[in-house]
Amino acid sequence: MRRICIMGGTFDPIHFGHLVVAEEVRCRFALEKVVFIPTGKPPHKKNQRITDPLDRLKMVQLATADNEFFEVSRLEIDRQGYSYTIDTVRAVKALYNAEKVYFITGADAALEIFTWKDVEELLTICTFIAATRPGFNLNSLEESLKSLPNNISKNIIPLEVPALSISSTDIRQRVKEGRSIKYLLPASVENYIWQNNLYTK
Ligand code: ATP
Ligand code: MG
Repeated sequence: MRRICIMGGTFDPIHFGHLVVAEEVRCRFALEKVVFIPTGKPPHKKNQRITDPLDRLKMVQLATADNEFFEVSRLEIDRQGYSYTIDTVRAVKALYNAEKVYFITGADAALEIFTWKDVEELLTICTFIAATRPGFNLNSLEESLKSLPNNISKNIIPLEVPALSISSTDIRQRVKEGRSIKYLLPASVENYIWQNNLYTK
């Protein structure tokens, strides 16, 4: 069975939090591949400045190059306008001829799924892995899942992953303040940030 997992994100920049979660989920669910898909224009980050998609893509490529099970797709970056997860899941399913599609999301973001476009269909064609972020109590997600119909709630799986309290926001802030970002993300990505003067202005 072809099980493909999507790891979506702004990846501004990608960091070890993303990579650890992806690897953990790949192993636990015996996935064939994890496809990293940097967002084009995320509908929920309309008012925020985000880095050029090609820089974010390049950093994801650098970060994932040493894992043969990781792949990068420019599907959302090449799409005009805003990207919706439902369209991405449909595209990945077709492109990879996948029988089962998983989608990794931080557990904090998992409750927002219900505000997404075509959520009921989304939850029938795709299984969400809600990875715990540090500080997040899985109980509240589990409580919310209990109130949903079974055929929907079974497609959101909470999962504890090694806690890493790394965030892109913190990394951007550190760069801006001239503080070290070493060991928070791969060295190749760190070099890319310095060479291209990202996050300094
Ligand atoms: P920002 O601080 O800009 O929001 P971020 O660090 O949350 O960035 P995103 O690109 O927004 O990174 O995250 C992509 C996905 O990875 C989301 O589902 C998010 O919840 C998850 N994620 C991000 N950081 C971690 C982490 N340290 N551990 C587990 N999951 C994470
Ligand atoms: Mg985030």
